[in-house]
Amino acid sequence: MSFLQGKTALVTGSTSGIGLGVAIELAKQGAHIVMNGFGDVDAPRKQIEATGAKVEYHGADMSKAGEIEDMMKFATAKFGGVDVLVNNAGIQYVANVEDFPPERWDAIIAINLNSAFHTTRLALPHMRQKNWGRIINIASAHGLVASAGKSAYVAAKHGIVGLTKTVALETATTGITCNAICPGWVLTPLVQKQIDDRAARENISVAQATKEMLQEKEPSLQFTTPEQLGGMAVFFCSPAADNVRGQAWAHDGGWTAQ
Ligand code: NAD
Repeated sequence: MSFLQGKTALVTGSTSGIGLGVAIELAKQGAHIVMNGFGDVDAPRKQIEATGAKVEYHGADMSKAGEIEDMMKFATAKFGGVDVLVNNAGIQYVANVEDFPPERWDAIIAINLNSAFHTTRLALPHMRQKNWGRIINIASAHGLVASAGKSAYVAAKHGIVGLTKTVALETATTGITCNAICPGWVLTPLVQKQIDDRAARENISVAQATKEMLQEKEPSLQFTTPEQLGGMAVFFCSPAADNVRGQAWAHDGGWTAQ
């Protein structure tokens, strides 16, 4: 099964965590990959290239519309256009609303929500021309339910679920689909920081903080893995998912079933 042979997937924030896991699974299906994100690029790039995929990297800052436009032009110049768009880049900040720094709010809304509007509007013309495309938004369980202390993140993730539904309706008669994946806890640097903060705040071990975080939200008491989320993205790209449109599918160990 390599139904993405010759197609191009752009995964924002694919230097780490979930984005990297998704990029690797899409690459295994034959897709060329446009990587994006901060930090070390070489090591994750090698992991994706190990699948045999062609990989290009663009370091656009997802909080900047102009840099996003440049990245989309780069993808077209390198591979002819984006067939699979995965909006994944994201950040977190935890504080109650009255203590939430306004610049943190703006950054979260820009990176976790506005960037997906820009990539989507710029990817759609090519997808419409081909009458095929997949837009996969990495939302969150926080796109479906809230947690205290995460106002900006929850607002951005609910927003991206709304964007997902709207884009799905606007493309409903075409070969383009738009869906969201809503993970529960995934043990990536984004979550490790929250675990470490909790351990420090409550003066408990990291192992204890990890256990408490899972117990609080996730009935399975297990993390979802980037590979599993990559598998879900592969399914959305498959012919079996041709008519799955505008959905927000949880992969959250039962978090939102409660
Ligand atoms: P991560 O910190 O491991 O990766 C985030 C990626 O986004 C990195 O590649 C980083 O460089 C990139 N990034 C951050 N700011 C950027 C910017 N301004 N421009 C370009 N790239 C930028 O985090 P992760 O856990 O893999 O998160 C990926 C996505 O999954 C996020 O949207 C997050 O909200 C979502 N998510 C994560 C979890 C979880 O438990 N880890 C759960 C639900 C949803």
